[in-house]
Amino acid sequence: MKRTSRTERTQRSRSQRARLAAIALAVVGVLGIAGTATALLLTQGDGQAEAPIAPLEQPAPTPPPVTTASAEATAPPETVEVPDVVGRSLAEAEVVLEAAGLVVKLTEDPSALADAVGDARGVLAQEPAAMQLVPAGTAIMLVVPAEAGAGGGPAAGALEGAVVCIDPGHQARGDSRQEPVGPGASETKPRVTGGTTGVTTRVPEYEVVLQISMNLKERLEAAGITVVMTRDTNDVSISNAERAQMANAAGADLFVRVHADGSTDANRAGISTLYPGANRWTGPIAPPSERAARLVQDALVASTGATDLGIKPRTDIAGFNWATVPSVLVECGFMTNPVEDRLLSSPHYQDKLAEGMAAGIIAYLGE
Ligand SMILES: [Zn+2]
Repeated sequence: MKRTSRTERTQRSRSQRARLAAIALAVVGVLGIAGTATALLLTQGDGQAEAPIAPLEQPAPTPPPVTTASAEATAPPETVEVPDVVGRSLAEAEVVLEAAGLVVKLTEDPSALADAVGDARGVLAQEPAAMQLVPAGTAIMLVVPAEAGAGGGPAAGALEGAVVCIDPGHQARGDSRQEPVGPGASETKPRVTGGTTGVTTRVPEYEVVLQISMNLKERLEAAGITVVMTRDTNDVSISNAERAQMANAAGADLFVRVHADGSTDANRAGISTLYPGANRWTGPIAPPSERAARLVQDALVASTGATDLGIKPRTDIAGFNWATVPSVLVECGFMTNPVEDRLLSSPHYQDKLAEGMAAGIIAYLGE
């Protein structure tokens, strides 16, 4: 991936900073950063955050041993050093900021578009700036080029010719006829099921995942990616094996299956991304699928703030076993959870889901 030179980044960073001043002031004002920039230096996460710098005036008080999120309510707010993410891909920036205990906010800069075409499409500027001390949970505003708002990271040219096959899960009527769980398998599964239903909204899964999928399609196409849909209406009859074969026939760089989850536990909530575990069919696609799943999952959690249920290898899914292209299946949330059920039908939350998926997919395609 072509990278922006340090000088260019610095110049952009300066010009962006001026444009961001109003937003940054609002953020700083709300969070009272100036008043809380104590010398308490704590880092958290998995060590990806940069090392803390020395405190300005007073010596740092001995930090309390904070090992989990359940710190004493009376403890002062944790202070973290803002990592430098300018020049990184959006997906990388999200991972780094999240690991530091910070929240990512995005703003698109249309004026940066021409600048960014053919150039690195990563983070152009950030506010607050790197190395500032802020309370954990502070929103870090990232400026990304307008058309890279859904992703960032790869050069524009890297996406030309890329093909993504999107499979909105299920369909209006399930088909309980059986099909082999993989090519040549004696074990069979129903061709396709009807999916779950919103416990509060009563909206069926096949409907909500089609809405999210069409939103995702628009974002990927805006980034120059060719999108092939397995379906764009609910009234179809396409088995899971046939969906995978559609992705194969399209020569998809990634097969993205969009589903929503269900559970007997109404409290269960969050997002997970499934990928093919290695078996006699999926050996070649398992490693790239896992990489894609990681990028998509991380970007989704960052964009939605949903509970991170992680990525999970699966060897029992026909729609994976029939695939010869890298594949992931996103479980966007639990329709059996009243809160997530409502969110899944909300256009705003669907935007967040599609934005996160697009970011992860674009990061994968740019690898
Ligand atoms: Zn499903």
